[in-house]
Amino acid sequence: MSKRDYYEVLGVSKSASAEEIKKAYRKLAIKYHPDKNPDDKEAEEKFKEAAEAYEVLSDANKKARYDQFGHTGMGGGAGGFGGGFGGGMSMEDIFAQFGDIFGGHFGGGFGGFGGGARPQQSRGTNLRVRIKLNLEEMVNGTQKTIKVKKMKAAPGATSKTCPTCNGMGVQTRVVNTMLGQMQTQTTCGTCDGLGKVADHIPAGANAQGLIKDEEEVTINIPAGARDGIQLNVRGKGNDAPFGGVPGDLYVVVEEEEDATIKREGDNLHQELYISFAEAALGTSKEIPTVGGRVKIKIDAGTQSGKILRLAGKGLPSLDSYGKGDMFVHINVWTPQKLTPEQKEFFEKQLNSGEMNAEPSGKEKSFFDKVKDLFS
Ligand SMILES: [Zn+2]
Repeated sequence: MSKRDYYEVLGVSKSASAEEIKKAYRKLAIKYHPDKNPDDKEAEEKFKEAAEAYEVLSDANKKARYDQFGHTGMGGGAGGFGGGFGGGMSMEDIFAQFGDIFGGHFGGGFGGFGGGARPQQSRGTNLRVRIKLNLEEMVNGTQKTIKVKKMKAAPGATSKTCPTCNGMGVQTRVVNTMLGQMQTQTTCGTCDGLGKVADHIPAGANAQGLIKDEEEVTINIPAGARDGIQLNVRGKGNDAPFGGVPGDLYVVVEEEEDATIKREGDNLHQELYISFAEAALGTSKEIPTVGGRVKIKIDAGTQSGKILRLAGKGLPSLDSYGKGDMFVHINVWTPQKLTPEQKEFFEKQLNSGEMNAEPSGKEKSFFDKVKDLFS
């Protein structure tokens, strides 16, 4: 792949002064800066190309060698140009160079100059667990104690000051920008910025002195919890390496399906089966609700398919002060085994026509009932 001429890249002549070269580069660096051209591969290449050209042409020695030998004089690190520019500069190198030409506050890459460096506080990672709650627990709130598998600081684990950064958490590097030496600070690779490394690691613990363990955590679930909501229990996540701040525990609420009561938004539904005799004569029944069992009255002559609405016996609404309702769907149970006497009784009714279905026309259709539910 042939490389473009450095003078061409910066758009300056071979006789350009150092000031003209600097000016030309500054213009290109602003134009192709990654912050201004996010996800633009071409701009990034141009940005790097310009930086590389400037790196060479802004240095008297490199410029002289480039003028004499061209790109072949710059190549690959073996050629003696202090680690080989021409093999491409890293973004970090480029930004370090900016400190000089833009005065030190352009783009990323500069981590605080001189002093002020502090190791980061180590922080444990967060954990997420699911917890199943029934309708009543969701409505009224509850307290649950669960076992959480987590990483804990192993007994006997000790740490010491990171020898690479002397506990500062950063490494200071001197970058020769040809217009002067620049200091850049990067996160220490040995300790990941913590300033501490493990000293003694007990058997079974990882490199950060943490060991797999289990802890009982008591979680207070507020009234009105819903499927999918997430509760944050501070400090109950994984321990941090070397005595930092533990992570958080996220508890995701999952609704446990109820065998009898089905939820639909804030409303609840249940099926109730009554006998033919109960439907004919009327009765009262105890049914479960989230607030405990309640007694409901079934009128004499209740038809199968009737829906009773118990106002306010649903779930508290999350977006208003209201409450949902409980709907009881009445089903009249048709007897499936008849004694000879019962059989005789029903045959008599059938033949006399006394128990024929006689809708008055005022019975609510299925569609009317559905409409009623939402009116
Ligand atoms: Zn370190």
